[in-house]
Amino acid sequence: MDSHPQYIFLFILDAVRKDHMSLYGYDRQTTSCIDKLSKNGTVYQRAISPSSYTFASVPSILGGKYPTEMTPFFDQNKKFTTKDFPNLDLLKERGYTTAFFTGNFVTSRSHTNLSDFFDHFWDELSQKETGRFNALYAPSSEILDAGAKYIEKNKQKKLFLCFHLMEAHGPYTKNKKSRFRDDKIFKKDTRKIDKIVNDAFTGIDDAVLQNFSVAPKYQIAFNEFGDDFEQDVNYYVAQYDQGIYEMDKQINIFVKNIINMGIAKRSKIAITSDHGELLGEDNIFFAHGIYCRPSLVHVPLMIISPDQTKSFNDKPFSLKNIIPTLLNEKHDDAEVMALHPKSMAVFNADECAHLHIGDYNHDSKINESLFLINQSPVEGALSNNFTSQLTTFKINNGVFREKTLSTTFGYNQILQKIHSINHALFREEKIKFSKMVDNYQKKISEQEAVIKTRNKELNNIYHSRFFILWQSMVKTLHIHKNISRKKVIELFKNKNTDEIKNLFVYKPPKI
Ligand SMILES: [Zn+2]
Repeated sequence: MDSHPQYIFLFILDAVRKDHMSLYGYDRQTTSCIDKLSKNGTVYQRAISPSSYTFASVPSILGGKYPTEMTPFFDQNKKFTTKDFPNLDLLKERGYTTAFFTGNFVTSRSHTNLSDFFDHFWDELSQKETGRFNALYAPSSEILDAGAKYIEKNKQKKLFLCFHLMEAHGPYTKNKKSRFRDDKIFKKDTRKIDKIVNDAFTGIDDAVLQNFSVAPKYQIAFNEFGDDFEQDVNYYVAQYDQGIYEMDKQINIFVKNIINMGIAKRSKIAITSDHGELLGEDNIFFAHGIYCRPSLVHVPLMIISPDQTKSFNDKPFSLKNIIPTLLNEKHDDAEVMALHPKSMAVFNADECAHLHIGDYNHDSKINESLFLINQSPVEGALSNNFTSQLTTFKINNGVFREKTLSTTFGYNQILQKIHSINHALFREEKIKFSKMVDNYQKKISEQEAVIKTRNKELNNIYHSRFFILWQSMVKTLHIHKNISRKKVIELFKNKNTDEIKNLFVYKPPKI
């Protein structure tokens, strides 16, 4: 007997955050159909997408390799090769006919050669995106309609169909009426976008992040007379949630279709997303692919089998292992990471439990990012094998801490090595950081003990509190902003209030 389901359907919902699905407890009823399907589903609590943007994430999900292990990264002129998609080979070995239906131009024939690796490829992108030049997409209704027709024709075969749906992806324009306008969440969210930038990838620097709430220009709703834009965040979030709601509705139609065709009992369905969307983290709204933040790579995943009852899986799980999991085949789950090939950021699943509650919490930034950045110009780097430096950066409340790791690598060698070393580096940095925190805490408690004794003598509790605060402040400024104790004392002695104020400039996100 064949242990595999006859039909496998993989839904990749572009840019969907798990915390905006009612499946994961969101207060808005965004995913009623998916919620219902969960009675036969395994809901994954710690699924990690391989990267934070489509072009890196989707091929990795389908191929079973991390983006850094695949051919085209770092040089998008290169094409994918068969060795990039072992999981598609696995499907074919198990007798499946494979088909990909995409609504996203990034995974269409205009952008990649993904079509070379499927038996059937559908990318009839009928709609023009309003914000991006030359960007086309297809509505889910058209994608799933094409899918249903394909199934009807090929019902006798073993089928693997992947659907890449787009409704939650920006731009969040005025064309869409959201059913969530004016509800409780809408009224409560008073956050504003302060600034728009032309390009999400190049238009945002660290200074901008610290001082403004930013959104990429193509994502926002302009009025027709000029540059005025809708600044209220709740307006866009309602549009975003509407997108999730619409995809859920289309999935409901699809499920009814396969029930009517009489094939639902022989079908396995997986529903996930390729990455999330920033909704205020780092002061950025409605963008992704910039970092590997938890809200971008900690994604939804549910696998539905007709003969199963609802369960939860809370182990770290990489989306690159979806296909072998759907086939009940063994796979390597030793390391679960998200990698950002462009900035070479890494997000480790071990941090997930800690960061899970940290999605909206800026303080959790301390532990979450390690960046490896080639400091030389990228254009030169791609064409030459030149000498460069690898530097780690740890973000701490918007301030980069920097450490040079090694020198004189050729860029190509760096790229080859990066995948193997970043995991180890991350651990090393983590241990160092926690040691530093321990030492600091030890010192503070020693000081507290000393001060306590002194307080008894002086009987001046107010003074002691001030002293502890002073010590912590000096230490914090030294660690996070690299300002010496001497300098701080000097500023306070001279009562240089403007500069003193500047020491503490950090604008937390408006939640
Ligand atoms: Zn995407």
